This record gives sequence, C-alpha cells and structure tokens, in this order.
Amino acid sequence: METDCLFCRIVAGEIPATIVRETDTTLAFRDIAPKAPVHVVIIPKEHYADVATLAQADPRLAGEVLATAAVVAEDEGLLGDGFRLMFNTGAYAGQEVFHVHAHLFGGAPLGPMLAR
Ligand code: AMP
Repeated sequence: METDCLFCRIVAGEIPATIVRETDTTLAFRDIAPKAPVHVVIIPKEHYADVATLAQADPRLAGEVLATAAVVAEDEGLLGDGFRLMFNTGAYAGQEVFHVHAHLFGGAPLGPMLAR
C-alpha cells in the first residue's frame, strides 16, 4: 500500500466508497463525480501507477481487472446497450489518480470517443 495514494486508502477502508464488487485482487466502486448514469471505477488492490505498468508487471492481474469490469457491466445491465471502458494514462490523458483504474461508463449514449 502507498500511504499517500487515494485508491490504496479506499482499499484499506480509510476512505469511504460505494463498493459494487470486490474480489481477492480487485475492487469496483462508484466514481465520486459520475460522468454518465453508470460510472464505476475498477482497480487492482495492489498499487500500480497506470495500466502500462500493471500490464508489464502482472498481466494476469490486468486480466482480473478486466474480468471484474465485465461482471460489473453485466450487474449494472450494460451488456445489451453497450458501455465504454477507459484507462486514462499519463498527462495527455488527464490521469489524476496514479493508481491504475478502469472507468466503466454506461446507461445512456456516450457520445463520440473523444471531445474535440
Ligand atoms: P482519472 O482522471 O482517470 O485519474 O480519474 C480519477 C477518478 O477518480 C475521477 O473520475 C474522480 O472523480 C474519481 N475519484 C476521485 N476521488 C474519488 C473517491 N474518493 N471515490 C470515488 N472516485 C473518486
């Protein structure tokens, strides 16, 4: 655990979150500032800064993050109409929290992939 990492502190139970799914290795919780009717953040419990670092260090765990995202998408009723799964990575993507996380968006048409 990184003591100054917001998402590590959520994993540790030090900061409250609305958890929608937990496995031995992953956690999914509602984003505090949702950008869509469904907006869930999926993380590995272990700290990695971003998806590239995670995928290189532990591809199995990266797959577990994706598997948890897929189960949450099903639980949230998103499989029929579709959803978006997004990993902001680094400065150009506007990553704010440097504990790798997938954003799961759904529940309404999501518009173009990138704002112009
Ligand atoms: P990113 O810009 O990809 O790093 O996304 C970070 C996300 O974390 C943003 O969508 C925030 O709204 C979200 N966030 C920040 N603090 C919390 C929190 N305490 N609980 C849930 N989501 C949070």
